Amino acid sequence: MDTEKKSKVVIVGGGSAGWMTAAALSHLLPRDRFAITLIESKTIGTVSVGEATIPSILEFNQMLGIDEAEFLSFTHGSFKLGIEFHDWYKKGHQYMHPFGPYGVNMNGIPFHHYWLKDKLQGKEDPLSDYCLEYQAALNNKFCHPQAQSRSAMANIKYAYHFDAVKYAEYLSAFSVKRGVNKIIAQITKVHQHAQTQDISSVALSNGELIEGDLFIDCSGFKGLLIAQTLKVGFEDWRQYLPCDSAIAQPSESLSTIKPYTISTAHECGWQWQIPLQHRIGNGFVFSSQFLSKDLAIDCLAKRLPSKALSEPRQLNWINGKRQQAWKNNCIAIGLSAGFIEPLESTGLQLIQSAIMRLLSLFPSGRCQQVDIDTYNRYTDDELWRIRDFIILHYKATQRNDSAFWRYCASMPIPDSLQNKIELYQSSGRIFRENNELFSEISWLSVMNGQGLVPKAYHPLVNNLSEQQRQQNLSHIAGAMREAEQQMPDHKAYLQKYCRVST
Ligand SMILES: Cc1cc2nc3c(=O)[nH]c(=O)nc-3n(C[C@H](O)[C@H](O)[C@H](O)COP(=O)(O)OP(=O)(O)OC[C@H]3O[C@@H](n4cnc5c(N)ncnc54)[C@H](O)[C@@H]3O)c2cc1C
Repeated sequence: MDTEKKSKVVIVGGGSAGWMTAAALSHLLPRDRFAITLIESKTIGTVSVGEATIPSILEFNQMLGIDEAEFLSFTHGSFKLGIEFHDWYKKGHQYMHPFGPYGVNMNGIPFHHYWLKDKLQGKEDPLSDYCLEYQAALNNKFCHPQAQSRSAMANIKYAYHFDAVKYAEYLSAFSVKRGVNKIIAQITKVHQHAQTQDISSVALSNGELIEGDLFIDCSGFKGLLIAQTLKVGFEDWRQYLPCDSAIAQPSESLSTIKPYTISTAHECGWQWQIPLQHRIGNGFVFSSQFLSKDLAIDCLAKRLPSKALSEPRQLNWINGKRQQAWKNNCIAIGLSAGFIEPLESTGLQLIQSAIMRLLSLFPSGRCQQVDIDTYNRYTDDELWRIRDFIILHYKATQRNDSAFWRYCASMPIPDSLQNKIELYQSSGRIFRENNELFSEISWLSVMNGQGLVPKAYHPLVNNLSEQQRQQNLSHIAGAMREAEQQMPDHKAYLQKYCRVST
């Protein structure tokens, strides 16, 4: 890009992806060198269902200097300590994927091997006893990390639930305050340089022509620039992840605000419950191959936890990713770059990591192929690993009560996931690959929760005497219980910290 004049960055789309990108770029790029424009269409609208997050969102907000209490009050947000899975392994069974760790590693060996020895000896010793976030969630408790505490309270790991529409509104005001030129209009034509095929400008329904040096495609599933203009193909993962539709419908709040997301498996998919301060976000995710829209609407209506607040809304997608997220001078961020169904709340995280990757490879002139290739390689790697983690939930199940679950249990899976499962089953070992998003704790939670049982624990566990091992386990479980008892009720905490101002 020419540094003599201002470089023009054009963001197409004003959903969460567009506004998260605009917020980060307007905060970090110097205003005297960059002009940022965001174009959104009120006619086309946004997906607006990204309401559950994972802990990395805290880093994003901190990078922007966002005040947490003000943010949560504005977005009607609540705290999230993990996801509780009901009926996934088999009907009547439940487990949690908490954000915090289990116990503490001892002598360099991950904690769960010490616990596994008990399990392999047939003792009923739930892993949940050793995780503070898990215990707090089950008891509807929450507080911020207590830096001065010498217990697990010092490092409580949490994320947020929030209203997606309010989130975009918040970031929009944030970005406009920092100089982003917001245009409400529909893009009717995209122009490219004849020789390079770079995107040169977009024509708007209001007659304006917006030129740019760098275009960020945040236009949602259709990928207005990356797919429709630059013709980048799509890697389709339907054979591994058959759910391609959702019905979303909010309902009234209950007296308790749970500090976790609930995911309940049903015959042909699963249902989410996301408790906010003012309502519960609900949705039913299903595969259109196995269930009709009308039955899905019916299924959700019967299982809403409280009175519906609006009509059901349908969403459709294909799980998969764009073959290249960055091509020429266009970077796809958000749904235009790919989507993995919302089971582990990874949508906003993928936007965040794309923004961070873009910042670290930000072009200083014309986009360089080496930067583009690096960006695309890391994007692919991130998505493939997350895809494997999501597939695990469907594959490792004992459910066979419907054609949907029988398909999931028998479907082929990627070798990368097969290797992970085999390693865990043979020796309880888990390795985090290439800095992948989900840590050993996450993989352990889901592999254990989905009923996978290793044949053996780490041999060095036996370096601890049996008496010492038992003492350590009961000391850790006791410390978790004690810490949980000191934590306040989640709803009371919200009311004090970030009550929604009316
Ligand atoms: C069922 C479901 C549940 C989800 N749950 C979660 C969750 O719990 N947590 C999570 O992190 N993520 C979740 N996600 C993902 C999350 O919703 C998305 O990642 C997020 O909303 C980003 O969407 P987006 O901004 O890419 O696209 P969109 O919201 O679709 O925005 C597209 C934008 O492009 C604009 N646009 C399109 N075409 C034009 C045009 N021609 N001219 C001008 N403007 C145009 C539109 O006006 C709009 O502003 C979920 C997704 C789905 C489908």
